[in-house]
Amino acid sequence: MAPDPEPSRTGRPDAHAPGRTYLRCWGTRGSIPSPGNDTVRYGGNTTCVEVCDGDTRLIFDAGSGIRALGDDVYEKGPNSIHIFLTHFHWDHIQGFPFFRPLYDPDDVIHVVGPKQKDIDVQNLFAGQMGPIYFPVPFSVVAARMEFEHLNEGTYEAGDFTLEVMRVRHPSFVTGYRITVRDTVICFIPDNELDGEIYDELEPGFEQRIVEFVGDADLLIHDSMYTEEEYPGRKGWGHSTFEQSVRLAREAGVKELLFFHHDPVRPDDELDAIVERMAEIANRNGGGPVVGAAKEGVYHRMEGGS
Ligand SMILES: [Zn+2]
Ligand SMILES: [Zn+2]
Repeated sequence: MAPDPEPSRTGRPDAHAPGRTYLRCWGTRGSIPSPGNDTVRYGGNTTCVEVCDGDTRLIFDAGSGIRALGDDVYEKGPNSIHIFLTHFHWDHIQGFPFFRPLYDPDDVIHVVGPKQKDIDVQNLFAGQMGPIYFPVPFSVVAARMEFEHLNEGTYEAGDFTLEVMRVRHPSFVTGYRITVRDTVICFIPDNELDGEIYDELEPGFEQRIVEFVGDADLLIHDSMYTEEEYPGRKGWGHSTFEQSVRLAREAGVKELLFFHHDPVRPDDELDAIVERMAEIANRNGGGPVVGAAKEGVYHRMEGGS
């Protein structure tokens, strides 16, 4: 996998060509949008990632980044879109009411995510469009909406197979393993790798997650904190850069992208952290390529061309 040689913020190069797989981050930030001069290179929008293969467009999470993606989908299609959710914290759903295809009667939108106890996905989504939170009621949505639960197991969409695993983060939160032909991408935006407070996920979590992301071409993983910051944030549901590197090394991942950037982390600081982590990742050789996810950059998946 490699970033597209000419990343574009507006176009989608060759994405409709059959057998070409692209990934693009439309939002890389955690917790809350953080626009400003210090965050412009890695981006200020909250979680939203698109994976394309030919005419199939899959969207992962609906943070504020999904607004601009919605305009792109509205203009270029297709009319049938899948949105896969990891969970329902604000930074992963807050862009959904602004997703333009919602208001197009020609569109079909499949929303797939983990049910939260007895609250289903449809109610979780419609709830944020209640009159206290948002002026446009859910009943105005013109697209055909289909809601499905995916708390465990697999899901097929086009040439893609998706597997989910529950991870360590408050509420029922999943990570995705996405396979298209011989390419594997793992998307786990919120996960506390060193957590000792998620009793229902023990024992065996460490082994399960190493297997879940095993040999992935690309792992996008929660890396919100430094080791120095982490002690004061233990139990908040997020990992450190070092923890993500350790997981990627143990699992034989080829490339690791740090994700869910802290809203107060300036771009220059992220650059320095990436440089430091690249050294740690390749100590003794054989480690993954490491980087930090950047809003707007296309990644062409080598195996998909
Ligand atoms: Zn989050
Ligand atoms: Zn969260």
